[in-house]
Amino acid sequence: MRIQLIITLVFCIYLSIGQNTTSLPGNFKIHSDSAKTIALNLKQNNVLFKERWITNDLFVYYNLTKNDIPDTLHLDLSEDTSRFKLTWYGKLFFGYGMRWGKMHHGLDIYLEIGDTIYAAFDGIVRYSKFNEGGYGNCIIIRHLNGLETLYGHMSKLIASPNTYVYAGQPIGLGGSTGRSDGPHLHFETRYKDFSFDPYTIIDSKSQGLKTRRISILKKDLYSERYPITTSPTKIIKYSNRKSNALPSKSKQSIRKKTNIARKKIKSKHK
Ligand SMILES: [Zn+2]
Repeated sequence: MRIQLIITLVFCIYLSIGQNTTSLPGNFKIHSDSAKTIALNLKQNNVLFKERWITNDLFVYYNLTKNDIPDTLHLDLSEDTSRFKLTWYGKLFFGYGMRWGKMHHGLDIYLEIGDTIYAAFDGIVRYSKFNEGGYGNCIIIRHLNGLETLYGHMSKLIASPNTYVYAGQPIGLGGSTGRSDGPHLHFETRYKDFSFDPYTIIDSKSQGLKTRRISILKKDLYSERYPITTSPTKIIKYSNRKSNALPSKSKQSIRKKTNIARKKIKSKHK
């Protein structure tokens, strides 16, 4: 009996040493072998991951029109709302909507270079590379709820394409690469390449997920090909909040705001 116990123990230790373990920021450890296996299974058996799985293009639903999308999307976002994770260091620079005559497809979230960027939901990394179009070091994750989330301007990419990641798992480090005037995370939520305001699903006060299940109207989905007629959520919605008061709209505004935010937040941050 005792010998059997010792043999089992030795075998367990051997197994744990033999596992291909990756250490990530925040002492987050993943077994990359099992992550690869989950990703492989999903891509073979789940229609969400079989369709338009292209790892070198940002947007892949090239011929999709708004007619192909139902008037209302009903999505199961997460089994447990507490598992959702938005990278959040206490301040929003810009929200979703028109900015200086151009569409801004996501949230610009304050951070410092090297801060950890987290996966919002469970999913598989579809895109992880430097993007010449302005996103800089960029990751796109396709989730089991049918959405994709995009993370731009990172200083370092940690998660590679075709890897399964868990909600809250570090995927990269914050930076200012690509078209960026200062360190921040550009975060987008998309359904089949159509962007929508992340605050449709995120509570702007707690930065947590609003509900487990959500309905999104087709008219609120945006793409350059199918602009929505009404102006998307305006930045004023967020800048009204005292902590998010924004200075001028100048080109270097993000850099200025970064410096201001650093002073204000330093004591709270980390
Ligand atoms: Zn942005």
